[in-house]
Amino acid sequence: MKWIFPCILLIGFSSFANKHEEHRHHGAHVHGAATLEMAFDKNRGTIEFETPAMGILGFEYKKLKEADKKKLKSVTDDFEKNFSKMISFDQSLQCQFEKRGIDYVLESEGHAEFSVVYSVVCAKSLTGSQIQFDFSKYSDLKKISVTALVDSLQKSMELKNGKGQIELK
Ligand SMILES: [Zn+2]
Repeated sequence: MKWIFPCILLIGFSSFANKHEEHRHHGAHVHGAATLEMAFDKNRGTIEFETPAMGILGFEYKKLKEADKKKLKSVTDDFEKNFSKMISFDQSLQCQFEKRGIDYVLESEGHAEFSVVYSVVCAKSLTGSQIQFDFSKYSDLKKISVTALVDSLQKSMELKNGKGQIELK
């Protein structure tokens, strides 16, 4: 009966992999999950962070109450001021972040996404460097899937407790 165990493991893994694919390619709406995608061509790139609003704001509806508006403003301000601390590149690369958009988007009745897009320009190519991630203050984000595409190198990982790092080599 020893063969049953690995077999179950395999089924478990493949259904997880399918969900993961679905999330990445069709933007499945899972509360507490987020995607962080970065694509760089040498020293220039774009970073996109997206999550169902529930995991970061605690609500997903159209008619915002006063408290919700305050919360949205404080989270938006945080992503405006501190995004380069949540995603930090090697100091020597001298990367500059430029905000393209921070949005609360109502998807359908009762569901909303929070999305953040930045352009980044660094003094040097990112190849060979390291990126540190820290979203730990948003503890309701249980799963943050990171994909980094730098020139021909692609790295993917899932942050643990909102933290992690990627080596671009
Ligand atoms: Zn939702």
